[in-house]
Amino acid sequence: MTRPETTRLVMKFGGTSMGDLERIRRAARIIAAEAAKGKQIAVVVSAMAGKTNELVAWTDGAGPAAAGLPLSDDEYDVVVASGEQVTSGLLALTLRNMGLNARSWMGWQIPIITDDAHGRARIEDVPGDVLGAAVDSGQIAIVPGFQGVTRDGRITTLGRGGSDTSAVAVAAALGAPCDIYTDVDGVYTTDPRIESRARRLEKVSYEEMLEMASLGAKVLQTRSVELAMAKQVPVRVLSSFIEPDENGNLPENAGTLICDEDEIVEKRIVSGVTMSRDEARITLLGLADRTDAPADVFTRLAEANVNVDMIVQSQARTEGAVNLTFTTGRRDAQRAAEMMTAAKAELGFEELRIDADVAKISVIGVGMRSHAGVAQTMFRALADKGVKFQAISTSEIKISVLIEDAYSELAVRALHAAYGLDAL
Ligand code: ADP
Ligand code: ASP
Ligand code: MG
Repeated sequence: MTRPETTRLVMKFGGTSMGDLERIRRAARIIAAEAAKGKQIAVVVSAMAGKTNELVAWTDGAGPAAAGLPLSDDEYDVVVASGEQVTSGLLALTLRNMGLNARSWMGWQIPIITDDAHGRARIEDVPGDVLGAAVDSGQIAIVPGFQGVTRDGRITTLGRGGSDTSAVAVAAALGAPCDIYTDVDGVYTTDPRIESRARRLEKVSYEEMLEMASLGAKVLQTRSVELAMAKQVPVRVLSSFIEPDENGNLPENAGTLICDEDEIVEKRIVSGVTMSRDEARITLLGLADRTDAPADVFTRLAEANVNVDMIVQSQARTEGAVNLTFTTGRRDAQRAAEMMTAAKAELGFEELRIDADVAKISVIGVGMRSHAGVAQTMFRALADKGVKFQAISTSEIKISVLIEDAYSELAVRALHAAYGLDAL
C-alpha cells in the first residue's frame, strides 16, 4: 500500500499543539501551507493542553452521586467535550483572519455517531457527505476531536486521547490519509521522555503500533490504530513544532508512517519498549486448591466487568492451597478487591493483598514470530539490573513483565539497550 494519490488530507493537532493562541497560529500556518498545495483539508483538534484535566476536575468537584442515584456520565460528557469546541472555533477564526475559507463543524453537525457508553464511547458511523462537500468546495473544515453524539442526540466523548480516533474516523470517512501532528516528531522505539537515546521509527506496522499503544505508548490512542488498521488509513505521526519557509513550503518532516508490515523493508526483532502504570496487582493468598476455584474467581470478575490481564498461580505455603495473582486496570482494582473480600468465605482464601506500585514493561516486535531467544534477552537484562518480575504474559509479537514501579524507568532503559535500540 502506498499513500493514495488523493488531494484530500486530514490533519490532527494535539493538546500541546493547540496549547495557546501562538501555537494555534503556528498550526494555522502549517495548514495554510498544505492548502496552498491544493489539498482539500479537514482538521481535527484537541482541547488546549491541560484543559480536559481541568474540565474533568470540575465534574468531580460537582460532587458524588447521592446513594442510589446513577452516575451522570452523560452530563460529564457535555462538560469535558467543550474543550475541543473552543479550539475548533479559535482555529477557524485564526485561519479566517489569514484570509482562508474555514469553518468549524461540531460532532453533532457531521454527525459523528457513537454508542451511548458515555466517557468512553465508540464511533459507530461518520457519514462522509457533509464534510466531503465542505472540503470539496474549498473550505477547510475544522472538527473537534474527542466528541460525538448518540443516535438520540446526546453528546459523548471517546475516552482520553480520543482525538486521534476522531481524526482516523474522519480520514476513513473522507478516504484520505491522516497526519497526526504532536509534540514529538514521530513514534520512537520508546518514550523519548524516558530514554533520550530512543530512536524515531521511520515506519511501524499497524500491528506493532497497536500493541505499543495498548501497552503504554500514549502517542496514539489504541482505538485510533485499530480503526486505521481496519479501514487501511495511512497514518503519519509528525511534529507540529515546524514553520513553513518564506515561500510557504514545509520543511522535510518525515515523521513516522504507520502502515502494513509488508511495506517495511528493515526487519527488526524488537521495534519498541513500553511502560504502563495503569495496572494493579491483586493476590489471593491461601486459596483452596479446588479445580474450580480460579473459575469462581474469574467468573465473578467477568460478571462485574473487570478486565483481567496477567494471571499467575503458585503453590502456597499451606498444604492444599495456592496463591492466585492477577492484574487489572488500576481503576477497577479497588472494586475487584472489595468484591473478592465480600466473597472471601465462599471463595475460600486466607488473605487478599493489593499492590498498585507496579508497572508493566513490554517489548514489542513482529520479528519475535520467527526468532528464538527474545524472552531470554529480556530476563537476562532485567536480572543484570537486579529487577525481579512478578508476572509475565506473552503474545505472538510481545512479551510483558510486571515489576515494582520504582524500577520501571531503569527497566525500560535496560531493555532498550539490550535489544540494540539505543541511538549510536
Ligand atoms: P497530543 O497532545 O499531541 O495528543 P500526547 O501527549 O497524547 O500528544 O502524545 C505525545 C507524547 O507521547 C509524547 O510527548 C511522548 O512523551 C509520548 N510517548 C510515549 N511513548 C512514545 C513513543 N514510543 N514514541 C513517541 N512518543 C511517545
Ligand atoms: N482532550 C482529550 C484528552 O485530553 C482528547 C485528546 O486530546 O485526544 O484526553
Ligand atoms: Mg494524545
